[in-house]
Amino acid sequence: MECILCKSEKLEVLNLKNNYYFCKNCELIFVDREKIPAAEEEKERYLDHDNSHQNEGYVEMFEDFIKKVIDPYLKGKAKVLEFGCGPGPVLADLLAEKGFRVDKYDPYFYPELDFKEKKYDLITSTEVFEHFSDPGKEIDFLYKLLKVGGYLAVMTSFHPGPEEFADWWYSWDPTHIVFYNLKTFQKLIEDYNLEIIFSDQEKYILFRKTA
Ligand SMILES: [Zn+2]
Repeated sequence: MECILCKSEKLEVLNLKNNYYFCKNCELIFVDREKIPAAEEEKERYLDHDNSHQNEGYVEMFEDFIKKVIDPYLKGKAKVLEFGCGPGPVLADLLAEKGFRVDKYDPYFYPELDFKEKKYDLITSTEVFEHFSDPGKEIDFLYKLLKVGGYLAVMTSFHPGPEEFADWWYSWDPTHIVFYNLKTFQKLIEDYNLEIIFSDQEKYILFRKTA
């Protein structure tokens, strides 16, 4: 058994209702491979969420993300990929209102996008990274879609450490199967031409492709 991200074998088993592993090298927490929900189950769970413009809290969440993670760094007609936009693409709409040229992609709800020859100034991915069964593969894919100088803006709640993990609400959603912290992302970028531009060390992180 090895870490699904950094391949280290220094794993600690967290014995909870599902089995989770904590990687002592990169501090990733991930669920046992047998506990990953099936695609249909996952899709139903997404449809249960009230992810619409009518849900005020949901819109505010994205407005805060834009204000802190995107506005200080990017303006104008930048080409954006909203990756994992879900059934109600609120963030894509908010970004389009600001003048960005936005492509939407979601494996369940907007699967049509043809990525061939596409390169982006900004990729946004909010409440998506915690659903990756193979985060290394997904991050690799996003990295290749970024222009040099482009940004990857991520929202996913950073885990509070293995001791507090079981009591942390974010771990209770069965479709949340992988959890990161700042150290995980710092280790991760060693394999890429990426730098961390900003993180609130809670749920936001912004990367820039340097070469
Ligand atoms: Zn690891």
